[in-house]
Amino acid sequence: MSKHPVDENCIFCKIVAGTIPSACVYEDEEVYAFLDVNPISRGHVLVVPRGHYRTLLNLPAGTGEALVSAMRVVAGALMEHCGCGGFNCISNNFSPAGQLVFHSHWHVVPRFDGDGLSAWPGGKYKDDTEMRQLAESIKERAAPARRRNL
Ligand code: 5GP
Ligand code: ZN
Repeated sequence: MSKHPVDENCIFCKIVAGTIPSACVYEDEEVYAFLDVNPISRGHVLVVPRGHYRTLLNLPAGTGEALVSAMRVVAGALMEHCGCGGFNCISNNFSPAGQLVFHSHWHVVPRFDGDGLSAWPGGKYKDDTEMRQLAESIKERAAPARRRNL
């Protein structure tokens, strides 16, 4: 039996278990990485924990570290073998952010000079005060999370 939590209705759990085929590019005890079936660019990889955790907020701390290590390995391999000059690591969390599969995951997207993929537009704050007040309010709420070692 798997030591990782599983949701039997989850497509990524099925991919991790091998009941749905995937093009695996990396795996270790905690992490499984495979090509996205609808790539943003050639070599677009999904890096997922073996365990079923719905979003980044549900991940055990050690699993987060394992995911970052795996992303570094995968991104290095992409730069070496896909000829990309850079990469984006993106994690969509909850529906408003575009999360479709509720098994936490990271997209590693190879980027090529002049590939025409643009990032989202940058906005502006009204002034410095608005920005500082917002930062203070987030900081207050972030402190308990740090204590819980999220
Ligand atoms: P999200 O929007 O949840 O961040 O991204 C989910 C990603 O999973 C999408 O980019 C989609 O193309 C990919 N995906 C969904 N189903 C499958 C599948 O069965 N196999 C593979 N390789 N990728 C999938
Ligand atoms: Zn799952």
